[in-house]
Amino acid sequence: MIILSVNAGSSSLKFTGFEMPSEDVLISGVFERIGIGSSFYTIKVNGEKIKKEVDLPDHKVAFEILIKELLDNKIVSSLDEIKGVGHRVAQGGSYFKKSEIATDDVIAKVDELSSIAPLHNPPAIEGIKAAKAVMPNAVQTVVFDTAFHQTMAPTEFMYAIPYSYYEDYDIRKYGFHGTSHKYVSMRMNEILGRTDTKLITCHIGNGASISAVKDGKCVDTSMGLTPNAGLIMGSRCGDMDATVVTYIMEKTGMNAKEMDTVLNKQSGLLGISGVSSDSRDIENGIKEGNERCILAQDMYVKRIVEYIAKYYVLLEGCDAIVFTAGVGENSISTRKQILDKLKVLGIKVDEDANNVRGVETKITTDDSSIPAFIIPTNEELMIAKDTYSLVLQG
Ligand code: ADP
Repeated sequence: MIILSVNAGSSSLKFTGFEMPSEDVLISGVFERIGIGSSFYTIKVNGEKIKKEVDLPDHKVAFEILIKELLDNKIVSSLDEIKGVGHRVAQGGSYFKKSEIATDDVIAKVDELSSIAPLHNPPAIEGIKAAKAVMPNAVQTVVFDTAFHQTMAPTEFMYAIPYSYYEDYDIRKYGFHGTSHKYVSMRMNEILGRTDTKLITCHIGNGASISAVKDGKCVDTSMGLTPNAGLIMGSRCGDMDATVVTYIMEKTGMNAKEMDTVLNKQSGLLGISGVSSDSRDIENGIKEGNERCILAQDMYVKRIVEYIAKYYVLLEGCDAIVFTAGVGENSISTRKQILDKLKVLGIKVDEDANNVRGVETKITTDDSSIPAFIIPTNEELMIAKDTYSLVLQG
């Protein structure tokens, strides 16, 4: 059975086609600059990488081209072989606790939740509608970044502001990257050979979050109402004194939208270093002795360590720490700095084992009190798995 896993952004459409249940990747790629001109797409198929410049006025045209490529490359011989299309949706609010079939009611609810995810939910809806129009016989599903975190208790998800904001506007912590935290925690449990585990999963990419996962369920996570909470990220500030925001607005006269841009796009590693939001550039800056890159990296690592320590206490112990996503999978020095700062807990990094990028590996010594692992994430596969099981149920 062929299942497509798709992630629609405002001007992009990423996709991966899986044969299920074997999980073989048949095709993957991305359509870029949809609706904004100079558009193109890249596809990996049959061991080849194809790039084509093409007019992409909207997501529907992108899906039509995708279907043509699937047929031309003999991935499918008819459209009806595509049984399911799983759509990544950022915000499922308190309403969605698991993946669902994208019925009209479900789409209307996702649309309603756009008020708390104005940048992310609308393009996802556009993707669903376009896919439905082009593949009317496939089961369309929605897979939420927030769903895995719905097991958090109010002590974890409430903010200490007047309760009425929660009642009137749904202001609370939702968390994101749930599909990734779920995938790596399931994989970690497979490696440990049991499910009654206490895990701390660190998804550290350009966006970054940490979760505390007990018995396969999320207990707490570092992102909040929006992704700009918790860790210091490429260009997001993460946690800080909330009053800094109102103070800067008063001082500079910036409006809410402008302030939001500063906090999401000009802060984090980029804001402190003044150099880049990319960890690789920060690492190069450190090698050159750039003081602000050194400061940015020290702050970045400190915040991650603080969250691991906090979740170790919350979980009353930890069976394994997992590193995933761009930085977590690839930055040898960042992982070492984090684990070295946790030596008070008896954690010991194995420098040889840690000297790898993007490979599933245990990176601590056998006498480390807690093992740490790199587990490459695979959100696309998780979306395909959820979609496959919904297709079987449906
Ligand atoms: P997102 O999905 O949030 O956009 P990714 O998980 O793809 O982000 O992570 C991208 C980030 O991973 C890059 O910005 C870069 O900082 C980091 N990264 C990728 N490769 C390396 C590397 N070899 N060393 C250090 N950092 C890396």
